[in-house]
Amino acid sequence: MAEPSQAPSPPIPRRVNAAVIGAGPAGLVAARELRREGHSVTVFEKGSQIGGTWVYTPEFESVDPLGIDPTRPVVHSSMYESLRTNLPREVMGFMDYPFVAGGGGGGGVDADGRRFPGHREVLRYLEEFAREFGIGEGIVRLEREVVNVAPVEDGSGRSWKVTSVNSNNKEAEEEMEEEVFDAVVVCNGHHSQPRIADFPGFKSWPGKQIHSHNYRTPQPFKDQVVVLIGHAPSGADLSINIAGVAKEVHVASTTVVDPNNNNINYPSQIHPTFPNIWIHPMVEKACGDGSVVFGDGVTVFPDIIIHCTGYTFHFPFITREGIVTVEDSSVRPLYKHVFPPAWAPGISFVGLPHRTLLFPLFELQSKWISGVLSGRISLPSDEEMMRDVNDFYSAIQAAGVPTRHTHNMLATAALEGDDYSDWVAAQCQCLGVESWRRGMYLASRSNAQARPETFRDEWEDDELVLQAHRYFASLKQ
Ligand code: FAD
Repeated sequence: MAEPSQAPSPPIPRRVNAAVIGAGPAGLVAARELRREGHSVTVFEKGSQIGGTWVYTPEFESVDPLGIDPTRPVVHSSMYESLRTNLPREVMGFMDYPFVAGGGGGGGVDADGRRFPGHREVLRYLEEFAREFGIGEGIVRLEREVVNVAPVEDGSGRSWKVTSVNSNNKEAEEEMEEEVFDAVVVCNGHHSQPRIADFPGFKSWPGKQIHSHNYRTPQPFKDQVVVLIGHAPSGADLSINIAGVAKEVHVASTTVVDPNNNNINYPSQIHPTFPNIWIHPMVEKACGDGSVVFGDGVTVFPDIIIHCTGYTFHFPFITREGIVTVEDSSVRPLYKHVFPPAWAPGISFVGLPHRTLLFPLFELQSKWISGVLSGRISLPSDEEMMRDVNDFYSAIQAAGVPTRHTHNMLATAALEGDDYSDWVAAQCQCLGVESWRRGMYLASRSNAQARPETFRDEWEDDELVLQAHRYFASLKQ
């Protein structure tokens, strides 16, 4: 008699032993998602506490204040003392762990209940998140810096050797450890390796130059003439901060052009609120006599130039050729900003996209990686992923998007087809970014443009705030 036919049993989920590099927001949520999927996790954190960028320190890099040498001793965080978030807390938190004032993170006697809180409140939220999801001792190894990550040379790409050192005693060979993991999730953050403005005379200019990575407080600039290059969020914040104490602040911004698209002799604009801030087009040249000449012909003799020109990606622990390269702030080749096709899913990257809602995206990318590692979610073949990668790079080039914007979600939105975070959510078969959150993100961006100095304290999206709180309440039911 024939055996009764049986439905094929579902594949047994693979449980892997994963290393996460970094315990900032990306590493913490990656650890949570990996554990939820049943994987075992070790988080390596070179600092003495969790929180990444949100751990403020008054220390800065005084020896190489432009951060030109990538092998210099690095102070990880670029946080400045006065920083308040540039997004409202409702949209900024992880999707299932709301960042609300006084609870679900952010409570306590010294809580900062503002809608755009200071950096300490974000750190408190991350610490509560880690506590809530058991990402602490036994999982996070503090003061362990990963110095090398390489595939175990059995050709399978299925296991990875992770070499770590004691961050406080890097040279001590007896403290160096080599361990083998099934997978490595890279969450090392991308705000520590400065990008520098290059203009004629930049290298030989005799005055002091620093990058905003090394800015902490305005006091050192008291009564000085300061040139700031760049007017993105950090440049805008710093100009106002410094204007409170400096004699003059001159901001060089790419967004200033004259009506004929000709920067020459265009009069500088005085800042509408701060009479000692001038906004100019970009620096045309810096001269040996200490002067700096802007595209509008204005010449000043600054005490200091501060480059607020953003950051580039840096993975000093990936030394083996053929995994990824970084060229002009573009990490290649990566399938959907996460997996290098030839090595997927053994090594993955969380948090490369920017100019978007970061914490929710870290969460979605982490769910995707965790599901792929267990076999619950499939990836296309290496060849198909590589084709997708190449198509994406060709599309960027054809659209005239500069290479450095490869991971800039605003610049590439139209090329990604679907919204990128929706695409990742669809892979995970989970809900994507909620519509109220998306609406609030757009509303807060417009508000910041309309009220650049006061957007953190004045807004018109109270209806969306109510929707957000209704949504947060529904999560508790
Ligand atoms: P990070 O927070 O940088 O954490 C990376 C961690 O990896 C660090 O703890 C670091 O010590 C560790 N690490 C690095 N290399 C190693 C290694 N080799 N071995 C072991 N550990 C390692 N985002 C917002 O959403 N809202 C804001 O208002 C906002 N404001 C910002 C203001 C400033 C000044 C800056 C610089 C950034 C701001 N951001 C903001 C972006 C911010 O970077 C992200 O919110 C977030 O911190 C990125 O998380 P991450 O985990 O990827 O990186």
